[in-house]
Amino acid sequence: MPSSTKLEPSNREIASLGQRIHGRLIRPTDTGYADARHVWNGMIDRYPALIAQVVDQNDVAVAIEFGRRHGMPIAVRGGGHGVAGNAVCDSGLVIDLSGMAAIEVDPVGRTASAEGGVKWGGLDAATQAHGLAVTGGLISTTGIAGLTLGGGIGWLMRKFGLTSDNVVRLHMVTADGRLVVAESDREPDLFWALRGGGGRFGAVTRIEYRLHPVDTVFAGMVMYRAERAADVLALWKRLCDDAPDELTTVASFLRAPPAPFVPESLHGQPVVAIVGCHVGVAAAGAEALSELRRFGPPEVDLFGPMPYVALQSMLDAGAPFGIRAYWKSGYLRGLGPKEIETIVSQTAAAPSPFTQVHLHQMGGAVSREVAGPTAFGHRDAAYLLNIAGGWAEASDDAANIAWTRAFWSAIRPATDGAYVNFLGGDDARLLREAYEPEALTRLEAIRAVWDPEGIFSTL
Ligand SMILES: Cc1cc2nc3c(=O)[nH]c(=O)nc-3n(C[C@H](O)[C@H](O)[C@H](O)COP(=O)(O)OP(=O)(O)OC[C@H]3O[C@@H](n4cnc5c(N)ncnc54)[C@H](O)[C@@H]3O)c2cc1C
Repeated sequence: MPSSTKLEPSNREIASLGQRIHGRLIRPTDTGYADARHVWNGMIDRYPALIAQVVDQNDVAVAIEFGRRHGMPIAVRGGGHGVAGNAVCDSGLVIDLSGMAAIEVDPVGRTASAEGGVKWGGLDAATQAHGLAVTGGLISTTGIAGLTLGGGIGWLMRKFGLTSDNVVRLHMVTADGRLVVAESDREPDLFWALRGGGGRFGAVTRIEYRLHPVDTVFAGMVMYRAERAADVLALWKRLCDDAPDELTTVASFLRAPPAPFVPESLHGQPVVAIVGCHVGVAAAGAEALSELRRFGPPEVDLFGPMPYVALQSMLDAGAPFGIRAYWKSGYLRGLGPKEIETIVSQTAAAPSPFTQVHLHQMGGAVSREVAGPTAFGHRDAAYLLNIAGGWAEASDDAANIAWTRAFWSAIRPATDGAYVNFLGGDDARLLREAYEPEALTRLEAIRAVWDPEGIFSTL
């Protein structure tokens, strides 16, 4: 039955679906519906007809078959962090994988196998117990699935590649309810697409990763008052130009938190922070960051040796669940005085103290396709800018969205390409910019094979 043909499920059919799955089926009138429909971005306010909180592969297949038979839009939810909100849909079926959170680590073979509902905090803790890690996201509550399928940038990427570069195998339930395994010599087209092409080919129930020895890293951040931002960014650019692959940094504009490690006079003040991680010999990390740490000196210097797993939750407080968010992002062609001036002046006008602006240092192993070709685009980019508008009250929506858009218009001519995982709900046009033209054509052809009726939600 084509997805465009609606065949409203009867109460009896819904009850039967509830009995066939081992997990929980939630209807709008059920307790827990309000919590279950919410995602990280508080701007997303959608009302699915059904939420299937699945616990195994069979549940996923049964739910997909049901949704398809009734012509319902289907949204697959991993960690619910997608800012565009594609993990939830209006009047359709949400397949929520958060109950599928099993993780197995093979410390000898240096691999990890994790179900589609796992979050980075869980995977990092499990792998770090063996002194191992895979490139993961910067916030521990982000889902591994959405992040991996779109590429995956994080502190280890310049040394070990993107998260998706370290995927060895994926298990996916297809639009017609079959289980498929994709790896380099099985379904190679799908394997290529699922590493960077985003979550629109099926429901990925398990991902297997190659791990690397990572234990203590030299990491932390320095913080300067925002008045010095232009000089700090110019220095950071030089640091990026010369950085070894072991070092990955992010320049962040934010308000200083009222934390014990921040001088009281700085609490709530606009600051620019350089956050970083050096994976390797600690002395080499200290050396690579020495000029930055001497510059000024900074108001706050938290760099030092720390367990990688501790770094992986260090920034969590800045990304609370339910914050209202509107993002614009793109790769920067360069970071000269003009771009720095635009970024600094636009950031200074941000209406909300919860807004952050991030400049991710790219390059290193990311630019070298360490695991062979994948769908991920723009590997040659040096910087990824993310204007992460964030605020608390709906009454502030208009002002914050307008500010983000104005910033984006000002910097857009200096950008080239987009990162699919940072796209917002009104960025459908930018999806094309996430990939080179041949890759986009190939992705669309692969999607036509695996989801010919377009039942899975996408931008
Ligand atoms: C606070 C915050 C921090 C972030 N930090 C980083 C970072 O450090 N590095 C980085 O690269 N990105 C980061 N991101 C972006 C992140 O990669 C994307 O938001 C990603 O989509 C999140 O995955 P998720 O599973 O949590 O999201 P969801 O909202 O659940 O899903 C996002 C998309 O992926 C699809 N999807 C999810 N799970 C599956 C699955 N199992 N099978 C098929 N499709 C699926 C969904 O249908 C949806 O289209 C961050 C986002 C936020 C909000």
